[in-house]
Amino acid sequence: MVLERPRTPLVAAEVPDPEPGPGQVAVRVRACGVCRTDLHVVDGELADPKLPLICGQQVVGVVAAVGEGAERLRVGDRVGIPWLGWTCGECRYCRSGRENLCVRARFTGYQLDGGYAELTVADERFCLPLPAGATDLELAPLLCAGLIGYRALRMCGDAQRLGLYGFGASAHIICQVAADQGRRVFAVTRAGDEAKQRFARGLGAEWAGGPDELPEQLEAAIIFAPAGELVPAALRACAPGGVVVCAGIHMSDIPSFPYLDLWGERQLRSVANLTRRDGQEFLELAPRIPVRTEVTEYPLTDANRALDELRSGRLIGSAVLIVAE
Ligand SMILES: [Zn+2]
Ligand SMILES: [Zn+2]
Repeated sequence: MVLERPRTPLVAAEVPDPEPGPGQVAVRVRACGVCRTDLHVVDGELADPKLPLICGQQVVGVVAAVGEGAERLRVGDRVGIPWLGWTCGECRYCRSGRENLCVRARFTGYQLDGGYAELTVADERFCLPLPAGATDLELAPLLCAGLIGYRALRMCGDAQRLGLYGFGASAHIICQVAADQGRRVFAVTRAGDEAKQRFARGLGAEWAGGPDELPEQLEAAIIFAPAGELVPAALRACAPGGVVVCAGIHMSDIPSFPYLDLWGERQLRSVANLTRRDGQEFLELAPRIPVRTEVTEYPLTDANRALDELRSGRLIGSAVLIVAE
C-alpha cells in the first residue's frame, strides 16, 4: 500500500521485491500495527517523507533473506521492526546513549519503507527480538504504541497519581503497565466518551472521565492525544512538582497560558522516538505483566479504512493490518 502524495489515499500497487543491502535483512511481513504517526505522515503533518512511501512502523515478520555481512539474524527468525530504523552511531547523541535523538536518524514508515507491504527490508541491528508465545497480532501494537508509551511512562518517575490524556492504542497498553506498577491511573477522555471510559476502567484505570471532571490532583500526566489545548489543562491538573509528558510526534499548537500554571516546579517535556534499549526492555517486560492488547484486524488492502477509523477517534485499542496468514 503506497503513499504517493500526502493527503491522498494509499494505493494498492505491485512494486519490485526489496533486496537486503549490507547489514540488512529482508522480512516477510505478517502483521503491521497502524500508528497515529502513520496518520500524521499520510495527512501531511510531518515534513518531507520519502515519496513514494510504504507506511507502517510496527512490523512483525519473519526473516526471509539475509544481506551481506548480516550475522545476528537467521532466515526464519521472527522479528519486530520499530520506528527507529537507523542511527549514525557517531553523533553526540548516539555516543551518549540518546540514539533516539540522533541527528541523522532514519525512521521506518517515514524515511524508510515500512510494513504496509508483504516484504520489507531493515537493518538487522535495529530489529527487535520478540517474545515467544504471543501472536503476531498481539505483538504489533507493542512496537510503537507500547514502547514509546513506555518511554513516556519512565519520564513520569515514581508518580503515583498518573493521568493519561487520550485513551488510544498507546494509553491502553501503558494503563496496564502503570497499574501493574501500583500506580493510580486516571484516564482522561473526551467528556462523555463512555465507551473509552469503560474500556479504560477494564484495563486497570481507577477513574475515567472528561478533562474537567478529575477528582484529584495528578502527580504526572502523559498526553497521547495530538491536541495542544490539553497541555495547559494537564499542567493545571498537576500538583506542584508534577510533570506533563507529551508522547506524540505531532500536536496542534499549544495555546498560551499563565505562568502560574507552570509555577511550583511543574515540568513540561516531550518524548521523542525510542532507543533500542527501550524496545528490548519493554518487550521483555510486557509478557511478564502480561499486557493484553485489544486489536481490530484489517486486511492489508483495507489500510485506508483502518487509517480513517483511527482518525475518527472511534477505534477502541489498536488497529493492525494482517498481511500474511
Ligand atoms: Zn547519531
Ligand atoms: Zn508509531
